[in-house]
Parts: sequence; structure tokens; C-alpha cells
Amino acid sequence: METKRVACPKCNTVLEVANNKNEPVKRFACPKCSTRLMVKFNPPLLDKVRVQCPGCGSVLRVHNRADKPYRQFECPACQKPLRVSFIVPAKG
Ligand SMILES: [Zn+2]
Ligand SMILES: [Zn+2]
Repeated sequence: METKRVACPKCNTVLEVANNKNEPVKRFACPKCSTRLMVKFNPPLLDKVRVQCPGCGSVLRVHNRADKPYRQFECPACQKPLRVSFIVPAKG
């Protein structure tokens, strides 16, 4: 679980925010002044995804070799440029 320290922009209280649900963005209210705050966390990344090429229908397995949230590549069958996301979708 990732924890980040943020300072409330209104009252300057330093808050420790735990990403207990593993969300890419966590919204909460400052406990002191009730200002609505938002903290961005790095989402967990998948190491491979399966995608279907919209051009030719080929099912491709794409590996996240560079540990990046997105990867652009060309379909090996029809050369259509594709973009895949390795970000784990938020649940709920
Ligand atoms: Zn505050
Ligand atoms: Zn294709």
C-alpha cells in the first residue's frame, strides 16, 4: 500500500494519505477544514494484456517490457497502429 504526504492548500495541515483501495486517484476531505482534496497515486501496472486488433481481428498478447502505463505498436498482421493500456482498471 502506497502512502503519500500532502499539504492541504487551504489550512496547510500535512496529511498522510494511504491508498488502501489501490486507486489511481483518491478523493477525500481535509479533516481540519473540509476542503475537498485529490491525490494521485501511480496505478498498479499489468505486465501483459490481450487485445483484439480492430483492423483484422487478430488477438495479440502485448507485454509491458518497459514498465509503462501505455504502449504503442503496430499489428503484426495488418500494420494498424494500436495503443494498449496496462493500467489495472479501478474496481467498483
Ligand atoms: Zn485543510
Ligand atoms: Zn491487425
